[in-house]
Formats: sequence, structure tokens, C-alpha cells
Amino acid sequence: MSAPERDYYEVLGVARDASASDVKHAFLGKARELHPDVSNDPDAEAKFKEVNEAYSVLSDPRRRQNYDRYGDADGPSGFGSMDDIFGGFGSMADIFSDFFGGGQGRRPARSRGRDMTARIRVSLAEAATGATRTIAYDRLGVCDDCHGTGSADGSEPEPCPVCGGTGMRTVVQSTILGRMQTSVPCDECHGTGFVVEDPCPTCDGQGRVPTHEVVEVVVPVGVRNGETQRMEGLGEAGWRGERAGDLVVEFEVLGDPRFVRRNDDLAAELAIDALEALCGCNVEVEGILEDERFFVEVPAGSLEGDQIRVESRGMPRRGSGGRGDFIGVVSVSAPPELSDDELETIASISRAHGGRVPASLSGVQA
Ligand SMILES: [Zn+2]
Ligand SMILES: [Zn+2]
Repeated sequence: MSAPERDYYEVLGVARDASASDVKHAFLGKARELHPDVSNDPDAEAKFKEVNEAYSVLSDPRRRQNYDRYGDADGPSGFGSMDDIFGGFGSMADIFSDFFGGGQGRRPARSRGRDMTARIRVSLAEAATGATRTIAYDRLGVCDDCHGTGSADGSEPEPCPVCGGTGMRTVVQSTILGRMQTSVPCDECHGTGFVVEDPCPTCDGQGRVPTHEVVEVVVPVGVRNGETQRMEGLGEAGWRGERAGDLVVEFEVLGDPRFVRRNDDLAAELAIDALEALCGCNVEVEGILEDERFFVEVPAGSLEGDQIRVESRGMPRRGSGGRGDFIGVVSVSAPPELSDDELETIASISRAHGGRVPASLSGVQA
């Protein structure tokens, strides 16, 4: 299916939040009105197809969601769902279904190899230092025996005699609304418009065969969760030497119980007690790099939730060599257990400042 010419909701005349039953009603109404057997409109057939296409998308929750989000019922081009990573090889039907890269002219897009996706999980510490990972996956790779040509004797592909090189054939389908003419990919040439005289027996003329790949991926220093990296040509090989798809690696940066990442800054709790909060203190903390330790100066009179920033002790920044900041968030707990004498000393200071300490405290020593 190519990019829709008109908005599907507009075609059916329903609102974007129309319910499934509204969509169905609208479709049946339009279909009755436009059915080529009953309509006098010279464009009825084209309009009827348009309505059918709109309905086929809006009546399928997953495709409708894709359409709403990406403007394409098949989802964002070049980025498959995470479920079909490493799922081995799609059926032939999958491989030849439509994978349009988005408007690069009339070239039969189905002959290009599909992009594949992989996810790499790294710890926050690995994201800080960078890492290398080896991933193994299955894909359709170039057939070595025919070097991807699909031809056993190396002869050039010729235009398909069945479809005349168009890659499409017309079929008449019976639907509940009557007979409809549609175009489907040609079986003989799988929609490519070309055939080879003497197909390579190894790949059955496809030019690609199942292969197992092992690839090293460099995890960049400072990588952020959800960042992707495109590895050109490492996706599915193209049909008979057409361009291969890419391998799109998505990095998932796992959480670290010690830190909360805010872009390149790292926040961590600074646990101190009430006396330390009163007097100020020097707290040694762990950094994100291996064996990194440093001190955070907590000023006297700090309160719960105060934030103390230490420059350049956060995450290494992507590409720049610098680092974000460390942000200590003060968490004040009860003071240590104090003796009566200690408590009286503190009480007398408080009293001198108008503190409303209990009178009983002064009686302790009497
Ligand atoms: Zn081959
Ligand atoms: Zn054909």
C-alpha cells in the first residue's frame, strides 16, 4: 500500500475519535452509495477502492494506531516492532509485503531488504564509560553462490513474461459487496518485474539465504536511554542484489539504584542526621565511574530536600569529553542518641535564641 492520498478519516467522513462501530457504519453507508454496480459516478470505482482501503486500516486497531501515530498503517518506516527482531525469517508473504521507505519514487520498494531492529541493554555505569557488545542474529544475507544475483549462470535478470515487467497483476476479488478489481504483486516474479532464466539452486533465485551474523556494537560514552544507532547494510539483504536494509540498534540504559539521571546530571540522596544538618558536614559519596569517590560539602543549616551541586561529577557527555554535574539531595534523619548532658547543652543554646524547649530539661541537672 502506498502513502494514502487522502486522510482515511476524511474518506469515511468520521471524526478521529470515532468508535469502531461508527467506522463500520460509515463504511457500509459509503460502500452502498459508491458501489460500482449501483453508482452512476464515473469515478465510483476509484472512490470505492479508497473507501475500502480506509476501512481496512481504520477497522484494524493496530493498523489504525499506526496510522494515527505515524501516518502509515504499517508503522514507522524502517523501524519494525521490537517483537520481530531476531524472530528468524519472515514468511515469503512478509518479505514481499510492502515496506516503503517513504516516497523514493516508483522503484519497487519490496525488493530492498528490510531494516531489522535489535536492543542492547547496558547499565548506567556502562553508559558512563562506553562499552562494546557482540550481538548475534539471523537474517537473510547475500547468497555467496550467486553473489546475490539469483542467477546460476550469472546471466542478467529479464523482464517477467507474466506481468510484462510491471511486477503487478490484476485480480478480481469477490467481496460481500460484490466483485472488485485490485492489483496484487505478480507471483511469478514476486512483484519485482524481473525473472532469471536459470535460478541459483542455493537461494532459489532470491539472491539471499538465511545467515547467522555476529556483529560488534560500540556503545557510545554517555549514551541515553532509547538512543538508536543505524548500522548500514546489516539488515536483511535485498532481493537479487538490491540494497540491503540496516540494523537499527536501540540502547536501553538500565536504572542504577544509587542515582537518578537527569540528562547528563546524576542526582543521589545525601543521607545525614539532624546534627550534621545543623553544623554542616563533609559527605563522601560514590561516583558513577569505577572506584570514583569524592566529597560533598553540606553547608550548616541544610534542610531536607536541599540540593547541592558538584560540578563535573555526573555522566560523561556524549561526544564532548565533559561531564554533567552531581546533585546531592539532602535527606535528614533523626539526630544520634544524645546523653542528658548533651541535650541540656543544646537546649541552653536553643533557649538563648528564644527556643521553646521544655522547662523540664533545665531540671535534669538540678
Ligand atoms: Zn544464490
Ligand atoms: Zn511478474
